[in-house]
Amino acid sequence: MYGDDIASVLITEQQIQDKIKELAKQVADDYPERGDRGDLLLVGVLKGAVMFMTDFARALPVPVQMEFMAVSSYGSSTSSSGVVRILKDLDRDIANRHVVIVEDIIDSGLTLSWLLKNLASRNPASLEVCTLLRKPDAVKVEVPVKYVGFEIPNEFVVGYGLDYAERYRDLPHIGTLDPKVYSS
Ligand code: 5GP
Ligand code: MG
Ligand code: MG
Repeated sequence: MYGDDIASVLITEQQIQDKIKELAKQVADDYPERGDRGDLLLVGVLKGAVMFMTDFARALPVPVQMEFMAVSSYGSSTSSSGVVRILKDLDRDIANRHVVIVEDIIDSGLTLSWLLKNLASRNPASLEVCTLLRKPDAVKVEVPVKYVGFEIPNEFVVGYGLDYAERYRDLPHIGTLDPKVYSS
């Protein structure tokens, strides 16, 4: 698929799925099944986190509910500015709910930092972050991230939800692009 656009596979499909099982175990230990309306609420950030969200939700042995938000951060296509606009808000109130934000990747951390403040102001019972990938620059912004799948080098990656110009989200693995893709 995609010819030879992918220069190298950084994380294989198997490695992703194994990591999701690990993360699910951690999260399930921290959020016991409460029954009734106490279900854990996963908030996925569109569109990048969609693949991770659906696999992660199914790997969790506790019941979860799912909400999605779409935000756009002003900036170039490969770096964010921290100025965030809500394109699609949550459908429900999260007051008194146990919330875990599900993210594809944290790079500068600016998007997440804004999102954490925004969701915290809605008075959830608890608020944590679970991200599949984290880049080294993320340490510059103080964002508390409880669950991290993989620490990756400072390279632009695609696949498993992550896009370049809306392509490659459907790859089951995560890799880097051949430079010819950017120049064509
Ligand atoms: P941050 O605000 O942490 O710098 O940026 C987070 C967002 O930037 C991610 O949700 C993602 O949409 C985008 N992003 C950051 N790094 C990468 C990357 O390596 N590949 C892709 N496809 N998107 C990235
Ligand atoms: Mg994201
Ligand atoms: Mg993108």
